[in-house]
Amino acid sequence: MFKKVSLLSAVAASLAFVATAASASYPDKPISVVVPFAAGGPTDVVARNLSQALGTQLKGSLVVENVGGAGGTIGAGKVARAPGDGYTLLFHHIGMSTAPSLYRKLDFKPLEDFIPIGAVVDVPMTLIGKPQMTATNAKDLVAYVKANKDKINLANAGLGSASHLCGLLLQSAMKTDLTTVPFQGTGPAMTALLGGQVDLMCDQSTNTTGQIKGGKVKAYAVTSKGKLANFPELPPLNAELPGFEVGVWHILYAPKGTPAPIVTQLQTALQAAMKDPGFVTKMKELGAEIMPVDKQNSAAAKALLAAEIAKWSPIIQAAKAYAD
Ligand code: ASP
Repeated sequence: MFKKVSLLSAVAASLAFVATAASASYPDKPISVVVPFAAGGPTDVVARNLSQALGTQLKGSLVVENVGGAGGTIGAGKVARAPGDGYTLLFHHIGMSTAPSLYRKLDFKPLEDFIPIGAVVDVPMTLIGKPQMTATNAKDLVAYVKANKDKINLANAGLGSASHLCGLLLQSAMKTDLTTVPFQGTGPAMTALLGGQVDLMCDQSTNTTGQIKGGKVKAYAVTSKGKLANFPELPPLNAELPGFEVGVWHILYAPKGTPAPIVTQLQTALQAAMKDPGFVTKMKELGAEIMPVDKQNSAAAKALLAAEIAKWSPIIQAAKAYAD
């Protein structure tokens, strides 16, 4: 009996040693942070700022890898199949919760194939138009779109992206179907909008703040419930379309199988990174709200993801917005 106990304790002690050693030497090479959208867009901007702050905390380097396409599902699928060793992470948004309902065939399971590290930011969207749009306010825009639906197109970052989701809600609230034009991210979609090749887009303030403040696009409304401090001149879209509200939450994930000590280390580093003055200032400037401290952990982020999957599933089924 005595022998058995000491053998067990020896095994437990050596396992604890392996776990601590794995964590103590981590990271000893660059960590790839996959952004499932094109470079230069809103998810990319937050990921790059976060990677810098996380790198300081982890005393290592984080390299953003853009794997765009299919509304974020290609990049997410790549991370789902990556080794769970802490060297591949995913920075994704609300699309992680809409993809299971939008895609009949999805090669990952959001709640099973990933370990959320923590929720990071919540970002409002803005409704913007190409510089040539003649409507000057949200009221005129809604009337114009309803009367000219065959002449208007709506850019998005692919099925399952936040811009797609916002566009779906917009069309349903206006009871109007518009032609949609998908891009690999709203970074390239913004270039097309500025060039007048597409007409309208809903996008996170993290991509639109500079263009709106610089007067480069027509800005019509914010998708938050009330007005935003960053855009006091813009009304909430729900003033024209009652009940309209979209916020884009973001979570940092590791693939399943990532050792618990590394998940804990990443979670601690993430919580510290979100207090980094450079990160805080940049997020404020771009209108992104840093998630409350009680959401900056693995369990709370997983609960958020599960609740959002349950919330969007009936809405998407009712809209019959599947990908074939
Ligand atoms: N804002 C994009 C979206 O609509 C994604 C991106 O390019 O970051 O989901």
